[in-house]
Amino acid sequence: MDAAPVTAGNYPCLILNADYQPLSYFPLSLWSWQDAVKAVFLDRVDVVDHYEQCVRSPSFEMQMPSVVALRDYVPQNRTPAFTRFNLFLRDGFKCTYCGSPNELTFDHVIPRRLGGKTSWTNIVAACSGCNLKKGGRLPKDARMHPFVAPFQPTMHQLQAQGRRFPPNHLHESWMDYLYWDIELLA
Ligand SMILES: [Zn+2]
Repeated sequence: MDAAPVTAGNYPCLILNADYQPLSYFPLSLWSWQDAVKAVFLDRVDVVDHYEQCVRSPSFEMQMPSVVALRDYVPQNRTPAFTRFNLFLRDGFKCTYCGSPNELTFDHVIPRRLGGKTSWTNIVAACSGCNLKKGGRLPKDARMHPFVAPFQPTMHQLQAQGRRFPPNHLHESWMDYLYWDIELLA
């Protein structure tokens, strides 16, 4: 199931893995309350915390789950996918040359025409200004060097980056299961 968009009105439920860690930090693993209730009835999750509000039908009544934990542990991927989003996340949604968060695009550190690959170790986030300025040149020729040399991140590194960009709505019952600092940043 995909993470639902977070709005204050739809009673999103935080999904924990069987080890009580969030299944994902970014995006934060959330289900709609409907999916959470379904999973409860299918015995796939344990309810850890709930909202005050109830769901009612003629045959049952229950408080809507706000945090559930999966009964079966889902192994976490070791290698993050090489996607535009993950690359921006690795670089903190900033240009690696000037630090600007605006008009982000990508730069081949070693230009393609000189054999530079489209890979984790040769692509960095760059604003369009820096991209244009550097053109098809090597860093030493353009005198532009990335703050951090491009690298293949681990899942853990991306998750750590992800917690710096928390969603705009966090239910208080989720706080015990998230990093300490996420509340301060929210
Ligand atoms: Zn820039």
